[in-house]
Amino acid sequence: MRLLLQFPEGLKQYALTYAKKLEAQGNEVFLSASPTFGACDLALDEARSIGADKLIHFGHAEFQKVDFDVEYVEYNVDAPLGVLKEAIPLLTPYKTIGLVTTIQHVHQLQALRGFFEENGKEVVLGRPYGFAKKEGQILGCDVGSASTIDRKVDAFVYFGGGMFHPLGALLNTTKPFLAIEPFANKVEFIDYYRKVYRGRSKGKILRALKAKRFGILLTTKNGQHNEALAKIIKERVEKAGLEAQILVANTFDFTSLDNMLEFDAFVNTACPRIAIDDAGRTRAPLLSANELMDVLRMKSEMLQQRQQS
Ligand code: SF4
Repeated sequence: MRLLLQFPEGLKQYALTYAKKLEAQGNEVFLSASPTFGACDLALDEARSIGADKLIHFGHAEFQKVDFDVEYVEYNVDAPLGVLKEAIPLLTPYKTIGLVTTIQHVHQLQALRGFFEENGKEVVLGRPYGFAKKEGQILGCDVGSASTIDRKVDAFVYFGGGMFHPLGALLNTTKPFLAIEPFANKVEFIDYYRKVYRGRSKGKILRALKAKRFGILLTTKNGQHNEALAKIIKERVEKAGLEAQILVANTFDFTSLDNMLEFDAFVNTACPRIAIDDAGRTRAPLLSANELMDVLRMKSEMLQQRQQS
């Protein structure tokens, strides 16, 4: 069988080992070297252009059905639990906690739950929601298993590495939010980021008020492609008497975007996290669709005020 293997960045270090195993079983194996951001980002074009019979995507659960043979190989990571004891004194004021994690640690949720219950906490796990497939699982773009239990809990506890996943959940919830990083042996409340990111969003909106020409980002990635939204945004911008054009790429390169000097602002329709995490990487403000709506509303109010005065 002719196979294309695709690994997210953190697992690319094991790509050759897997390739050799599959080759030893009689397969012809190719490795995708493109950046990979999730199961929303299957290397389908590469698989088709090399005539692969199957794409094997490591590290993520299925995101959506596609018309190609894709095998998903989830990757469980057994993180050390020793750091949990550091969380208990910090959680003293909170009785009921909502526990969330990434797909790599979902298999550890029962052990985590047991630990917190033994320490007098009530633990709530949100149901799978949208693109997330497991109880308590969050994705960068799907934090329903946190936001749907916001009213039921006194605080949230995220278990896992990095800020990418907890940040999404943090911005869509209102309760104190404790992040436990088992590999860095770090436990801290990250609530202050709510204010930081709201301030950044406000700053982008204010900068975009002067924009006249908008570039709308449309990705070709299978799970992020949203042409309908890109077209709606273009229509709205044009209806407001401004210019808009849809810009197409697989992975957006911020230097190339910056070279498009005619655009005063960009609007994201790809991975929703781009307008949050990468907003500082472009010369012009990089807005979400909601932020653009705020810009258009404020522009229209300013115009009305000018006409009245
Ligand atoms: S957060 Fe972005 S990269 Fe991650 S799964 Fe969602 S759309 Fe894909």
